[in-house]
Amino acid sequence: MIFVLLGVLTVAAVRHYLEANLLQDQARRARQIANTLLADVARTGEGFVVAEVDKLYVPAVSDRFIRITRGDGRVLYLSGEPRDGSFIPDRIAPASLTRDGEFSRSESLPAGGAVLIAALNHREANGVRYVIEVGASTRGIAGTVQRLLLLLAVGLPVASLLAAGGGFVLVRRALRPVDQISQKAEEITQQNLSERLPVAHTGDELERLSTSLNHMISRFEDAVRNSKRFVADASHELRTPLTVLHGELENLTQAPHVEHRFRDSLGSMLEEVERLAAVVEGLLAVSRLDAGEAQAERVQFDLSELVTTTADQMSLLAEDKNISVECIATGGVTVEGDRARLKQVIVNLLDNAIKYTPNGGAIRLQVTREDGHAVLDVVDNGIGIPPEALPHVFERFFRVDDSRSRDQGGAGLGLSIVKAICTAHGAGVEVSIMPEGGSRFRVRQPLATGSSHLYSAQSSGVV
Ligand code: ADP
Repeated sequence: MIFVLLGVLTVAAVRHYLEANLLQDQARRARQIANTLLADVARTGEGFVVAEVDKLYVPAVSDRFIRITRGDGRVLYLSGEPRDGSFIPDRIAPASLTRDGEFSRSESLPAGGAVLIAALNHREANGVRYVIEVGASTRGIAGTVQRLLLLLAVGLPVASLLAAGGGFVLVRRALRPVDQISQKAEEITQQNLSERLPVAHTGDELERLSTSLNHMISRFEDAVRNSKRFVADASHELRTPLTVLHGELENLTQAPHVEHRFRDSLGSMLEEVERLAAVVEGLLAVSRLDAGEAQAERVQFDLSELVTTTADQMSLLAEDKNISVECIATGGVTVEGDRARLKQVIVNLLDNAIKYTPNGGAIRLQVTREDGHAVLDVVDNGIGIPPEALPHVFERFFRVDDSRSRDQGGAGLGLSIVKAICTAHGAGVEVSIMPEGGSRFRVRQPLATGSSHLYSAQSSGVV
């Protein structure tokens, strides 16, 4: 839009300048005729003036209009038809004899365009008036303006395209550091708070912004570290008194002199202390995992073998509830990490599956390989998880149903421990609802690099 406006203004200004210039030229010639030829007309005679004008200005050849009219209205000289045929001199309206001095006018032509005429009312020494008119057609100007218009019509879109393209490239280049900063900001989580945003050394607001954001992340990192240390310290400090309390309560329940009516209270106190101890252990585990203690050892081992033995060890729990546990574990699924921690993942998931599956239910454990990953599925046909609770099950202290979970002895930390261990191993864990009821927990961990890709015999069976 601004380019179009600029184009219109340019064309108007150029046209005005050329017309003013043309008129000035003609006015100068009129003065020349008056001062050099008509000034002496009394001596040289009008015939001489006519001949000289024709000879000196050759109006027909130079496409100019010249007319000298005497004060009494008689035309003394009228130029012939111009070579370019742009106007017919006879048809140009007669000069105004009443106006004094220099003046100008524009005579429109029927075929378009105009003749610009500069006129001069000259009084000769012996009192005779002559009006000298010199004019030229605007055809040349129209041609120039047309060429300019063509140039602008082609040039302006090209210029706008170049400007838009240049602007786009410049903006892209200027915003690239912002893009890098936001990309890095997306990657920073609680697990990698020690990382920082790239600082664009541009010396401007962007550099100050990235530096300030990095300072903010540092402060945030300190705060998170302090709170983790606090949780770890607190749970560690609570451990010993709880162990002592547990021991004392156990002794008391077994002491022969304790009256029978106190035994029930002592029993439930013991239960509560055990529950509290489990919470403290869970908290300690989570805070240690958060502090990066997830992989005390790092070895390559067969996940199927670990799943099979763990399921075997926990089979009594399932048997108590008459739950069948099927273990489909394909051998040779080698992963790398802390074996004890990853065993904890299997234990917690299987423990939950048993806890939240009613008597006589069925649980399936399956280990497969998929796109360079080891996949562990723990599927049950138990009570399932309501869809609205799915996004929260891995949060600390989250329990779908507080009373239900408390009865089962859960504090809502089991799945946060699973999540923390998986994250530390570069694994993902997700939960979904099975269409036929029950839930499925799936852990996806990258296979160990350089591990054998051959499948060994599939072991399947009911534990
Ligand atoms: P809890 O110690 O209470 O079991 P978790 O962190 O292990 O805590 O699990 C969080 C909540 O997710 C549980 O309270 C339970 O309601 C739900 N949940 C976990 N696993 C299952 C499952 N297999 N079936 C149904 N609900 C489950």
